[in-house]
Amino acid sequence: MTHNPSTLVRPEILALAAYPVSDAQGMVKLDAMENPYALPEAMRRGLATVLAEVDINRYPEPTGRALRASLARHMRVPAGMEVLLGNGSDDLIQIITLARPGAVMVYPEPTFVMYRMNAIFSGMRAIGVPLQADFSLDREALLAAIETHQPALVFIAYPNNPTGALYGEADIEAVLRAAPGLVVLDEAYHVFARRTFLERLAEFPNLVVMRTVSKLGLAGIRLGYLAGRPEWVREFNKVRQAYNVNVLTQAAALYVLERLDVLQAQADAILAEREPLGRGLAGLAGVTVFPSDANFFLVRVPDAPRAYEGLRAQGVLVRNFHGAHPMLAHCLRITVGTPEENRILLSALKEVL
Ligand code: PMP
Repeated sequence: MTHNPSTLVRPEILALAAYPVSDAQGMVKLDAMENPYALPEAMRRGLATVLAEVDINRYPEPTGRALRASLARHMRVPAGMEVLLGNGSDDLIQIITLARPGAVMVYPEPTFVMYRMNAIFSGMRAIGVPLQADFSLDREALLAAIETHQPALVFIAYPNNPTGALYGEADIEAVLRAAPGLVVLDEAYHVFARRTFLERLAEFPNLVVMRTVSKLGLAGIRLGYLAGRPEWVREFNKVRQAYNVNVLTQAAALYVLERLDVLQAQADAILAEREPLGRGLAGLAGVTVFPSDANFFLVRVPDAPRAYEGLRAQGVLVRNFHGAHPMLAHCLRITVGTPEENRILLSALKEVL
């Protein structure tokens, strides 16, 4: 008898690599699209006081009622739509893909790897439709795949990660009209892209919009949310772990949402740095910069593994996508940091190249 993981774990899971996270100790951390700015000191103190009052001996109120209401208000979720909370939007991706093992999920690729990973975990058939070489949406190919495979689920990151750009609104509308099942629009980078389908939920019965507070400056508390028609939210609510968002996260998010202008100002500061960083990168010999509507740039360099290691050696952590997908050959993804971090990155990259 063989006693090894293959007696339990399916071949398609054995073939996967775990989601890659690099050790960032002491590094200029430009690998994960985080907000580089800390909360102001007064807010940190205020938050500590609020968290001190939380009854951590009790389970959370299971649906996070107060937080859902606060999110609906601050994020302008249209009346009649419901909100579902997740332990990060990663959790929501898992919840959605768990709903129908065996069914087909279609997504433009390359994109956020968690869509495909979770589809595989749940036994869905994951069908990626390649983007154009310039990473714009291949609308004809996507519509053809929808026609052929009649997917129960379509996942679209809007804007896309790791490529950075928003797809055209008309393309998304065409997908929504053609898709026979649910379309999840992942607006993780909404705070930077500032375009949304949230206000159009009522127009499309097969649309849910997913967001996260991670890119806003709260990646550590793990909170994602999904807004959609009650029919959809009611079902996903059953699939969710009963206490998926813990009491400290709920209390922290409630506190920060009342002071959202602080994080919004930080996002504005990041946005103001995007253009100069893009220009600086494009000015380096051999670097191609792809346009971005988010807080990061995908760039192509002559030798990405070498550039990645060279940056690392100089204390700068970015994300290497070489080898992750054929279309991402020699691509690095660089998060927009503080002006100082961006300066360090640019001079290190110049040296490496
Ligand atoms: N969606 C997209 C497109 C992302 O890029 C990310 C994070 N990199 C997520 C979802 C997950 O975000 P979180 O789990 O932190 O909410």
